[in-house]
Amino acid sequence: MTREFQVQGVPVSELNRRYGTPLFVYDGDVLRDRFQGLRDRLHPAMEIFYSLKANPNISVCALLHSLGARAEVSSLVELTTALRAGVPPEQIIFLGPGKSRQELAACLDTGIHAVVCESLPEVALVDELARERGVRAPVALRVNPRFAVKRSGLAMGGKPRQFGIDEEELFAQTDLARRFPDVDLMGVQVYMGTRILSEDVIVENTTRILDLAERLTTAFHLDLRMVDVGGGLGVAYFDGESDLDAKVLTDRLNPVIEDFTTRHPGTRMIMELGRYLTADSGTYVMAVRYTKTSMGERFAVADGGTHHHMAAVGIGSFVKRNFPMAVLNRLDEPPTEEWNVTGPLCTPGDTIGKKVPLPPVRPGDLIGVHRSGAYGPTASPGLFLSHGYPAEVLVHEGRCHLVRERDSPDDLLRRQRLYDPAAHDISH
Ligand SMILES: *Cc1c(COP(=O)(O)O)cnc(C)c1O
Repeated sequence: MTREFQVQGVPVSELNRRYGTPLFVYDGDVLRDRFQGLRDRLHPAMEIFYSLKANPNISVCALLHSLGARAEVSSLVELTTALRAGVPPEQIIFLGPGKSRQELAACLDTGIHAVVCESLPEVALVDELARERGVRAPVALRVNPRFAVKRSGLAMGGKPRQFGIDEEELFAQTDLARRFPDVDLMGVQVYMGTRILSEDVIVENTTRILDLAERLTTAFHLDLRMVDVGGGLGVAYFDGESDLDAKVLTDRLNPVIEDFTTRHPGTRMIMELGRYLTADSGTYVMAVRYTKTSMGERFAVADGGTHHHMAAVGIGSFVKRNFPMAVLNRLDEPPTEEWNVTGPLCTPGDTIGKKVPLPPVRPGDLIGVHRSGAYGPTASPGLFLSHGYPAEVLVHEGRCHLVRERDSPDDLLRRQRLYDPAAHDISH
């Protein structure tokens, strides 16, 4: 008997038999442990909002919500997803630099906790929409801070950005409340970047954001009812990285939270997390179709690739670094060879893993990319070569649930219209 990768006792061969490949499988226990591991240690005044951007699957959202997560959304569909997943409006915030009139209207009509506005023209539009409806719109201002804290995967502060209102500009607008009478300026939001793996950086970000919120409150006489400190908590993907330690993090962060909440007991404190909550729970499962060698290198050509998992391919990063990968159906065989793991797309960029240490690979093997629960299908060009999006399965309490069907050819063609130049039909 060879040892197989299992999700809560369900072997990968059974997942393959039932759902086929390529497939994303999410382990509900890992989702729960991730959330609970932080929730149990984090100061109770700090609420955890799930950033649907990382994985917008409605069942993933529902599971996290059942554990106590609220929702941070950035599109009309994400808002609808969160509501249908059962998240009550007062536990939802909406942010994003280019919200449409329709999206802003939906924020007001559903009564979410706050619209996070990223520019003054956006505040003006919200003001207008609120007036039309005879309501006051709860608005948190996203600030592009003067400061930047280094050592984040993608630093946000201290740079020209489309996100948020520059700190300097904001402090110069002393008449905001008078200019926008139907807007209730009730909060401040700052997001400093993503993939942060240093506890100290997160503590420093939070401290500076809370300080900025206090300065704004004083300058604008705000009735500060919400401060969102962003998050950006990372997970380790590559060699040399290590995961955040939730105990170390919260031991250092909780006194900062305690200090703020003592002085502002009526202010909701929010941390918005995507990757940290979902990445570890997901495995992308691909079946090997062919093996070959080219100029001395081994290739395993699999049925999955860039179109589902752009993040693992790492387009845009300077050196190709591999996500953790394994031959899932033969876990006990030692990695004795180096394999390039590629997909079905007609581009050399469709390389999921380069020179990955694996056991000898055979057609039919199931290769898994671990830590794939965040920024998978949602951040990938699923329509490339018209392959469409894969199936997604959530395993919860030992049972498998298909939470997204694989795209079929009809799904993919349904929205196209055939214009036939040979048929001289003038009726349209
Ligand atoms: C992308 C994003 C998040 C989620 O980021 P993670 O790194 O996945 O936690 C949260 N807030 C904002 C503003 C974002 O742009």
